[in-house]
Amino acid sequence: MGTIYAIANQKGGVGKTTTAVNVAACIAEAGYETLLVDIDPQANATVGLGLPKDSEPNVYSVLVGEVRAEEALLPTAIERLRVLPSHPDLAGANMELPRRTGSENLLRDALAPLKERFAFIILDCPPSLGPLTVNALVAADRVIVPVQTEYFALEGLAGLLDTLALVQRELNPRLTVAGMLLTMHDGRTRLARDVEREVRQHFPKLVFDTVIPRNVRIGEAPSYGVPVIHHDPLCQGADAYFELAKEVAARG
Ligand code: ADP
Ligand code: MG
Repeated sequence: MGTIYAIANQKGGVGKTTTAVNVAACIAEAGYETLLVDIDPQANATVGLGLPKDSEPNVYSVLVGEVRAEEALLPTAIERLRVLPSHPDLAGANMELPRRTGSENLLRDALAPLKERFAFIILDCPPSLGPLTVNALVAADRVIVPVQTEYFALEGLAGLLDTLALVQRELNPRLTVAGMLLTMHDGRTRLARDVEREVRQHFPKLVFDTVIPRNVRIGEAPSYGVPVIHHDPLCQGADAYFELAKEVAARG
């Protein structure tokens, strides 16, 4: 049975999509059948893997019950990595879903048949704690929280942890935090080192050992429609995401 990971943080620009795409790619490269589900209407993960953001069918067609998830999967340039693409229409789901009772289970139910086929299913969440993120947290077994090593890093984490606790209590008792991931770390600055220390002190045991450095190659890769391990397999960013994928797999 596969494991579902949600990559979540209601702050934008913290490295959710970058982490979703690159961890998924590294895990697939390591030999596991892997699925990336893009549930952000901005479709950055879909586009970052070289796919159009208006594919039909897509995750929205799946959530509204037009097609089954397995009918909407697309192959990528990476062997063993498939994508359930997003679509701008998904923005409407934030309005529609809350009106349907039990709608927080839609994604979970849609993905359930795929847990046999994929060892890892990675969900790239939008930057909010709205219905789409709640659907992801209900579907997920684990959540990875990217935290940008900047001054306001800890701000909003309390709100996120409250939401996680609520989802655990009311909707998905299986859910656990796989870890917090420090991203865009610039080891030359004192600020980054201070933030790292503070986050590790606040959340002992919860922070991944691997830290993702700020790395130009990571930032460039989506414009070529590939993960960083294909854009520049030997760069520091590719190394870091490989290490993270190992840590994620080891934590089980
Ligand atoms: P989110 O999905 O949380 O909104 P993204 O993953 O899209 O965040 O990252 C925000 C921006 O920062 C993107 O332009 C991305 O390419 C860039 N970025 C993310 N991680 C890194 C990194 N480690 N080094 C350099 N740029 C990065
Ligand atoms: Mg994103």
